[in-house]
Amino acid sequence: MKQRKIPLRKCVACHEMMPKKQLIRVVKTPEDEVLIDLTGKKSGRGAYLCGKAACFKLAQKSKALDRALKHSVHPDIYEQLSRDFAAVEEEFLAAQGSVQDE
Ligand SMILES: [Zn+2]
Repeated sequence: MKQRKIPLRKCVACHEMMPKKQLIRVVKTPEDEVLIDLTGKKSGRGAYLCGKAACFKLAQKSKALDRALKHSVHPDIYEQLSRDFAAVEEEFLAAQGSVQDE
C-alpha cells in the first residue's frame, strides 16, 4: 500500500485543515485583483475557503480574507466574490462527488 501525501490547507474562515482539493482558492493576483481561482494555478497570494457559503460569510464578516491575502479587500469585491462563490459552490460540490477516487 502506497501512502500518498495529501496537501492540506487551512480554511481562513473556520480554520479547519482540509485536503487542498476540497477547498476553494481565492487569489490576489500581482495586479491586485482578488478573485476565485478554481484551477488553483493562478499566480499570486492565495487563501483557501472550504466550499461552504457559511464560511464565505464568516470570512467576509471577520475580514479573514483581508488578513490572509495581506490586502484590504473592498466590500464590492466581497460582494462580487459572494456572487461568484454561490455560482461555483454547486459546480464545486458536484465535482467533489465525481472525483471521490480518481
Ligand atoms: Zn471553512
